[in-house]
Amino acid sequence: MNDFEKILHDAALDGGENNYQSQIEQVTPAQVRAELAKEPGKFSRQRLLRLISPAAQNYLEEMARQARELTLKRFGKTMQLYVPMYVSNFCINGCEYCGFNQCHDFKRVRLSIDQACADADVIAKQGFRHILILSGEDPKYIDVEYLSELSKRLREKFCAIEIEIYPMSQDEYARLFKSGIDGISIYQETYDRELYEKLHPTGPKRDYSKRLMTPDYAAQAGFRRLGIGALLGLRDWRLETLALGEHAAYLMKIYWRSQVAFSFPRLRPAQDVDGPIYENIISDKHFVQMMLALRLCFSDAGITISTRESSEFRKHLIKLCVTKVSAGSKTNPGGYSGDDESVSQFEIDDKSSPKEVAQMLKDAGYEAVWKDWDAGFVDDA
Ligand code: SF4
Repeated sequence: MNDFEKILHDAALDGGENNYQSQIEQVTPAQVRAELAKEPGKFSRQRLLRLISPAAQNYLEEMARQARELTLKRFGKTMQLYVPMYVSNFCINGCEYCGFNQCHDFKRVRLSIDQACADADVIAKQGFRHILILSGEDPKYIDVEYLSELSKRLREKFCAIEIEIYPMSQDEYARLFKSGIDGISIYQETYDRELYEKLHPTGPKRDYSKRLMTPDYAAQAGFRRLGIGALLGLRDWRLETLALGEHAAYLMKIYWRSQVAFSFPRLRPAQDVDGPIYENIISDKHFVQMMLALRLCFSDAGITISTRESSEFRKHLIKLCVTKVSAGSKTNPGGYSGDDESVSQFEIDDKSSPKEVAQMLKDAGYEAVWKDWDAGFVDDA
């Protein structure tokens, strides 16, 4: 067992026997008020537990006020913009909730480096300087050589390059870091080990421990941004939030040079996916409570909202505690340069163009920041 796995296990946050549900139910209004009277931004398991409780729902307005104030203090009135670019929908895993699931029968696509650069050109012309490269998980089609080569080409146009691919080793991350990739998003999907194994019946993704360890490997290789999250809708959001908070606290303590960011991917309809996996879908109100509670425990964490959420909802969220939003997203390979035929990973909700998103931010009094990071900002780059 690795360090964090042990922490999670000892705290019974990996699905082991626990009484968190009853502790959460028993939180009193006085305990919530006591948390809100403390200096915001500091984590403890008990504080997070209280802030996600049903009792805290009556204090959402005060939580929002404090979260907004704290976010403005730490991040200013700016909002990072990024764009996801899918380079392949080949996948050897069988995640039950995903349109790219290996069992689904459709024509798979992997962009050549030139095709990916053509997509990236369209993205760069829209103004983005921060790009997230995504793919299904199949090392036969997307490997370190492919990503390094692509990154070297993209560096001409993009200052920040992140990946959301599949778990790799520390050595592989080190090679990617050298090629210019310095951020990673890797979601545990669910921290509940048993459920995780049920939802990932085939493929290397079945390895819960390896996935859990991945942010460590990336950080050890020098990655500056670590995006973590759980796929909301797979199990009770409150238990998932407790595990997520514990994960962030662990990473921040050990890898203080890297910024940890939370994402809140909510299950979305996907091709050939239906059924009972949507039973735990989180309501908008709980979604907001989860986000506010995490901000009030982690003052410096990035908070990312994607186009999975509707334009109206995003408009509301950005004024609370969000620091980064995607815009004009396509979730199919080649989508930016006109391929409407390749299969998307999931449906997006906010279909606003990057310009419209930038305008929405401006109307809300925020400055849209297209360039998140420049290697010149640090001495050792
Ligand atoms: S979630 Fe990722 S690993 Fe799972 S089937 Fe989809 S693309 Fe493959």
